[in-house]
Order: sequence, then structure tokens, then C-alpha cells
Amino acid sequence: MKLYEQPAHVLHDMLVNKEITALQLTEAVLARIDEVEGDVKAYLTITHDEAIAQAKAVDEKIAKGEDISFLEGIPGAIKDNICTKGVKTTCASQILKNFVPPYNATVMEKLNAENPVILGKVNLDEFAMGGSTENSSFGVTHNPWNLDCVPGGSSGGSAAAVAAGTAIWALGSDTGGSIRQPASFCGVVGMKPTYGRVSRYGLVAYASSLDQIGPLTKDVTDCAHILNIIAGRDEMDSTSVDAAVPDYTKALVKDVKGLKIGLPKEYFVKGMDPEVEGAVKAAVKELEAQGAEVVEISLPHTDYAISTYYLIAPAEAATNLARYDGVSYGERAEDAVDLVDMMTKTRSQYFGEEVKRRIMIGNYALSAGYYDAYYLKALKVRRLVKEDYDKAFEKVDVIICPTAPSVAYKIGEHISNPLEMYLQDACTVPLNLAGLPGISLPCGYSSSKMPIGMQIIGKALDEETLLRVAYTYEQSQSYHEDRAQLGGK
Ligand code: GLN
Repeated sequence: MKLYEQPAHVLHDMLVNKEITALQLTEAVLARIDEVEGDVKAYLTITHDEAIAQAKAVDEKIAKGEDISFLEGIPGAIKDNICTKGVKTTCASQILKNFVPPYNATVMEKLNAENPVILGKVNLDEFAMGGSTENSSFGVTHNPWNLDCVPGGSSGGSAAAVAAGTAIWALGSDTGGSIRQPASFCGVVGMKPTYGRVSRYGLVAYASSLDQIGPLTKDVTDCAHILNIIAGRDEMDSTSVDAAVPDYTKALVKDVKGLKIGLPKEYFVKGMDPEVEGAVKAAVKELEAQGAEVVEISLPHTDYAISTYYLIAPAEAATNLARYDGVSYGERAEDAVDLVDMMTKTRSQYFGEEVKRRIMIGNYALSAGYYDAYYLKALKVRRLVKEDYDKAFEKVDVIICPTAPSVAYKIGEHISNPLEMYLQDACTVPLNLAGLPGISLPCGYSSSKMPIGMQIIGKALDEETLLRVAYTYEQSQSYHEDRAQLGGK
């Protein structure tokens, strides 16, 4: 395997054993970027010189005989809605196309303390609204398994970079599936931690009661290591949970004996690609063979999750995005006659179609007269969705279902029909509504040779069991060792 194809834990050992230098590794990944980025288009900003300088500093440390941390010298990419001090953070929006944050997100502070090599910022749907990166105002990212297909979204740049070997690891954000679904479409591992497990400070807000940052990696081991780094209470985010952070790598054991897996019947119904269903059910059989017990469960309010999500998320987005008014942040329209005209022109000119659609839906749902019928009702249904999980988790330890109803589809296939796009989120949004953790990992291929992802859902703050089940399955297969052979055009 080439260096850029290796997971971080393998590269870490190679660095420690002095088989490679951080500079060699960084140059290998930068050369890979030169080779394939023109086709994949995952990056919005490449911090080439900083990456080289970071790698050299790590090599000096190693030369002095100092110990290095897990991620030290390992090149990764950051979704472009996570604030990076001094480096543009655009949210793939025209309105923030020149925005350079004066501070780091907490996750960046935590990462930087480990001295990784940061390669740059990667593409997303504008303000993380979408599931394909087609809503990016800087162009679509292509799926490394088939360049004609979408990489998923909104963290499509993160997933595509990890799959293409143009990053060893990446951070993404997940409001309704934006880490798990692109991980599934690109054949990599992606985890949305429990709401509050990871600080949101410095994550540009889309829907604050749903957003969460998490890792996208080449395997489950790397996922556990990165979660160790980014998890924990943060004074700067009052919604971050004040609970001890376990060492997640201790959960990397191949043992599911006696563990109860719930299979929700509502997730294996209409609209599901039979190849996806087949692969996920086969994966569950494998876990059964490893000693887990499988129980059919019911999550009766699943059908309402999409409508609920597409009221709550836009309502919060409408509020969060009110700050882009041409005054404090970002671009400002020039030919305005007064303040209101300036704000109207700025927002009309610099927000994309999908963002405007959601601001309108959100403001409608929140407006006097409709609030009770839409927003308040959605909050009530959200609680019912959560109670479904509470009941299920009285009987089972984890729940398994597909991450997405299909494999990656062709660029342009669904984007002109917003409702069709929203329906793709059926398997991922319920978790965000309930605040629960979920991980997606590869479990097979379609006949068109596109990766299929299985989703494991856990109890709140029980990422350890998720990792244990994911690791047990991963170690019984070799999907995590497969790499996308770029092609398709
Ligand atoms: N596809 C969903 C949406 O468009 C999820 C996005 C996300 O998780 N950021 O809202």
C-alpha cells in the first residue's frame, strides 16, 4: 500500500519506528493531491506551506528523541465550516468567501495541541445544507469510487479526501447525517458523536440543537483515536456535556458476545435499495455469528422524522443565518440606498438557492400564527422520536440499519427536486433529533461497485459500544483495506 492509503495508526507506528519521516508522508499526500485533486475537487483551500512547516517541526522533535502523540505529523483535512484561525472558512458560501476567522474552533485547539499536519479546508454543501455537495457555491466534489457520482454530503469533501488518499483523516459535521452519509457513499468510517460530546464552539452554526462535529477516517481504530482528542466538556459551549471522556481505544476489542442488536423494522421498508438492505442484513448475520443476539424492534415514529427535521433544522437555520446581514461578517452588496436595501441585496445576492429555501421554510414555521402548527408540533414529535429510542434501548445495546437508502447516485440525479433530496436522509436524521451517537462503516458493494454503509446507533454517551461493535465487524471483513481506484469518467 502507498503511504497515502494507510490509516493514521499504521503511519504513526512507521513514524515512531523511523521508517518514514513526517515530511516524506506529507509530501506523499501532497503529491497525491497534485495527482487526483483535479478530478475529485475535495479542497477549497490547501495550506501547502504550513503543512510542510508542520511536518518539518515534527521531524525535528523525533530527531531529538521526543515522544510523539497519535496524530503528530499525520496529514488531515478540515471541513470548511470549522473555524481555523488565519485560514479562510467559507462554509462553501459566497457570503463568507473571504471570511478569515480570528479564532480557532475548540476542536482545532485540541487537534493543534497534538501537532497534526493540516492540509487545508474541504468542500461541503453551503452552510452544511444538503447531502451531495452539489449545493456548494464553489462546485461539486466527485466520488473517488466513480467520478460521475456525488460523494454525499454535506461533509462530501471530508469523505472524498479520505477515500481518495488526499487526506489520511478528516473532520466533518453532522446535523442530519452529514458525516455518516458521505462516509457511507465514499466507503470510509464516519462517526457522529452524542450531542454535546464534542464542543461546537467555532463550528459555524446550521441547526444548533442538532449539529455535532466528528471524525471521518479510513478505519474504526483511527475513529476512536480522533474521538479521544476532540471529545470533552468545553467552557465555551454550554451544551457540551460535563462527563468524563473514556479512552475510546479501549473499546477496540473484537467481542460482541451477549450483546443485543436491535433491527428496526421501519428502516427496512419502501424505497430502500435491495442491495443495500442485503449487505446490511448480511453484516448483522456476521455479528450474530460472532456471538451477538439479534432482536427485531420497532421505532414507530420513524416516518415522521424527516418532516420533523425539515421544520426544526430550517427554523434554527433561519435564526442562525440572520447574522449574515452585510454588517458584521462576510460580503456586503455595494449598490444599496439604505440599510434595509443593503441587507436585502446582500442576502439575495450571496446566499445560494437551498439556503434561501431553508431560511424561508424556517421563518414560515416560526412565524406568529404558524408557530404552534409547525415548529411547536415538530418539537413534540421530536420527543416522540426520542422516546422510541429510549424504549428500544431498554431491550438492546445498539441498533443497526443502513446509513442511506441507496449507494452514491449520479451528480445531478436528484438535485433539482428538493423533496427527493430530503427523503434520502430517512435513516440518518432520527438520531440527530434524539441526540444519539451513530457510526457508519463499509459493509459491501452494490453491483455498480459503489460502497454500502451500515449504521450503528448507540445510547447517549455510549460511543464505546458503537466502536466495539464496529471494530468487531470490521475485523471480520477486509472492506476497510479496500481503496477507491479513481476512475469512471
Ligand atoms: N442532508 C441533511 C440536510 O440537508 C443533513 C445535513 C447535515 O447533516 N449537515 O439538512
